[in-house]
Amino acid sequence: MTINFGYSIAKTRVINLDSCDFEKLHKLEKLTPSFKRCMNCGACTATCSAQQFTDFNIRKVKSLFFQGQYTQLEIELNKCMLCGKCTLVCPRGLNLRPIIMNMRKILTAK
Ligand code: SF4
Ligand code: SF4
Repeated sequence: MTINFGYSIAKTRVINLDSCDFEKLHKLEKLTPSFKRCMNCGACTATCSAQQFTDFNIRKVKSLFFQGQYTQLEIELNKCMLCGKCTLVCPRGLNLRPIIMNMRKILTAK
């Protein structure tokens, strides 16, 4: 008999940290310096509107950006509804909407 615990083991994957483009990172930090203040507390994720309807996780977005996983990042960024609830609860005063919009711009820039 198989028991459904409501979660599963994540698939094995390899992350190549060399694929992180520091130019993109510096560009984002220049456009939105508050990005550096994030302490990964998770309050934004807990309150996120998109997270209620999808598997969107704002902290995952940050990790994908640092890891240079841009294809997956683009998919994730499109799930954000830009509602701004995350900004209201952030203890570090991060305004995540411009951060998300700037990430989108940086990824689509030629
Ligand atoms: S609430 Fe603010 S400090 Fe906490 S993880 Fe989200 S962005 Fe970072
Ligand atoms: S702006 Fe985006 S990340 Fe923030 S709470 Fe709304 S849907 Fe979530």
